[in-house]
Amino acid sequence: MKLAAFKYKGEKDLGIIDPTENYISPIGSLVSDLTKQNLPDMITLISNFDNLKDKLRISKKIDIQEIEIKAPISNPPKNIFCIGKNYFAHAQEFTKSGFDATSKRGDNIPDNPIIFTKPQTAIIGPNAPIMNHQELTKQLDYEAELAVIIGVGGAKIHHESALKHVFGYTIINDITARDLQLKHRQWFIGKSLDTSCPMGPWITTSDEIDSGNLSIKCWVNDELRQNANTGDLIFDIPTLIETISAGVTLQPGDIISTGTPAGVGIGFDPPKFLLKGDTIKIEIENLGTLMNYVE
Ligand code: MG
Repeated sequence: MKLAAFKYKGEKDLGIIDPTENYISPIGSLVSDLTKQNLPDMITLISNFDNLKDKLRISKKIDIQEIEIKAPISNPPKNIFCIGKNYFAHAQEFTKSGFDATSKRGDNIPDNPIIFTKPQTAIIGPNAPIMNHQELTKQLDYEAELAVIIGVGGAKIHHESALKHVFGYTIINDITARDLQLKHRQWFIGKSLDTSCPMGPWITTSDEIDSGNLSIKCWVNDELRQNANTGDLIFDIPTLIETISAGVTLQPGDIISTGTPAGVGIGFDPPKFLLKGDTIKIEIENLGTLMNYVE
């Protein structure tokens, strides 16, 4: 099932989306009826999914052209967890670039997952503009990533059962101000500027996806920059869930962005930073396409 947050005739709603048949079927009222909330949101849907899933069916169909698709989750319970240097080739290009304040040259591959966060205020949806923040940064970069959405929460989750805690998957563009990432040493500021977390286009539930084998591609304008497979992750998704939940309770709707493959702007010589007017398109197999432009 593919679940989207959208706006139609000025109203926010949730729906089951069928991108091949080009329609979305609203389900927000089912969520509201169950939870007595006026405004349905994705976190409520995820939290109550077991009670709702048998009631979720296609009824009214709205043409996708008539709606505005929003980020599937705009209010995660925590900051978005992000993983640094989680593909071999990217770990090497990042260390080599000189923009990594956290490791010495030659110290490429992490022994344990590198975990940082982005705040929810950075989230934007598909086709929304990315601010260039030119007063703060001259080195804006893109990072195509597979993002995991937690369904059933928990603490001390074991590797073997970790995938049972995954509700579904979406795409995140981990927009990064490289100069701020280097200057402040810790990555938070450089990763957290407003509009630096494009997310979407929707959530594909975990039953439809083999998350360990998905092609992931990113184009800037028409140039293919990143082209990899999620099977190349250094730390796989169960390891990430086990590591984080060892001491931090995960909740429904928490998001883990799993890291980016090689081919980011600083991987080129000279670096290819994002410029005003650039379009970034990320495609992950079975998850759709996330497109945004720099304003
Ligand atoms: Mg990243």
